[in-house]
Amino acid sequence: MPSFRAPRGTRDLLPETRAGLSRLESLARSLAARYGYRELEIPLFEQTAVFERGIGEATDVVEKELFRLAPRSEEAESWALRPEATAGVVRAYVQHGMQTWPQPVKFSVVGPMFRYDRPQAGRYRQFWQWDVEAIGDPGPGVDAEVIELGRRFYVEAGVPGVQVLVNSIGDSVCRPVYLDRLKEYFGRHEAALPELELRRLQVNPLRLLDSKDPAMAALVAAAPRITESLCEACATHFEAVRAHLDALGVAYRVEPTLVRGLDYYSRTAFEYYRSGAEGQQQALGGGGRYDGLVELLGGRHTPAIGFALGLDRVLLALEEVGAEVARETPPLAFVVGADPADTAARLRVAAMLRAEGLSVRVELVPRKLGRQLESASREHAHFAIIIGDELTDGNVQLKDLEAGTQRLVPLTELAKDLARAAKSHHHG
Ligand code: AMP
Repeated sequence: MPSFRAPRGTRDLLPETRAGLSRLESLARSLAARYGYRELEIPLFEQTAVFERGIGEATDVVEKELFRLAPRSEEAESWALRPEATAGVVRAYVQHGMQTWPQPVKFSVVGPMFRYDRPQAGRYRQFWQWDVEAIGDPGPGVDAEVIELGRRFYVEAGVPGVQVLVNSIGDSVCRPVYLDRLKEYFGRHEAALPELELRRLQVNPLRLLDSKDPAMAALVAAAPRITESLCEACATHFEAVRAHLDALGVAYRVEPTLVRGLDYYSRTAFEYYRSGAEGQQQALGGGGRYDGLVELLGGRHTPAIGFALGLDRVLLALEEVGAEVARETPPLAFVVGADPADTAARLRVAAMLRAEGLSVRVELVPRKLGRQLESASREHAHFAIIIGDELTDGNVQLKDLEAGTQRLVPLTELAKDLARAAKSHHHG
């Protein structure tokens, strides 16, 4: 047993997995650029109050899962690692006076999030998300744009059969009325409620609908539906969002019990699931409209919508269906030498080619030429560059390992020669 291990709930991403995550990060960035969502970087930690106020103190994320940093005695403020990006993005929006920018502003954030969760499959204490936010547009068009963007991500990432679930959770006009009906309903069934749910009934009754307790399934199914309690403005908005999704050809299912765990959401709420896995804890991603958040964090009332897609779960899904998570590109060339000891000559040639932007490996262990060539094949290099006596005349042997041919090339021509070959082949 090693003395030190990665902290519980975290994992080292070994090169293959890291390459898979990088592919998803690049895809996220390229989609963000394609859709006009500009990349933003915010700190990995914020004042705890940003999350307490922005997410809600009665949510699991703040109450149980917030990674609080131990304060140093001289610090008056308390800090926490970000459990999600939205609160920080909105804090930045207010701080930098972005309400004076042309609205809406559209952002994309890719990076790690932290939740002090009970670790299990697909649930980590450090995990990666792609987050987009469109601030300053009341919708409904932008709601559909965001939902379609998330779906496009899964399509291009190669996750098969992703389902879109949508709901409207009302606004400050109709939700309180609905919450009263919900409290009244669950109050009548108090005796049947498990302890955790009883507490939710007091502090955050909407979350009862989100209960993962099997004992709650029948009660939840028969509970009053928010879609039947929407005020006219919310009902019209929801209808228009669905009309936009229809126009885009995005298939979705209206799921009246979909409520999202965070307090600041209003109207549109949505989640992405793999078919057959709906209703379990394992949403691939989700989002919604949060028209009240900017104001909560000290700005003017500003409508906004966004999503957070969990990248770890996409990697797990790809593994599960046996899809290739990432392909590492083999090098274009591998430098070997007839004199095992002359590592300097090999390294010099490799450095020269690398400076020209070519992907080149080099054997720096003083092995016999035959063993060096074996390394070149093992790494699937297209070419081996063999350094021998010809070097005194400024030449090297260029061996095409795929075609099995070999010819003498002047060192001065080598980079150009290889670059030409690289263009007609697919090398990194
Ligand atoms: P949430 O804000 O909780 O809806 O999270 C959005 C997405 O982030 C989820 O759908 C998951 O894909 C991912 N996610 C949330 N928490 C975790 C976690 N502890 N570990 C891995 N992924 C997570």
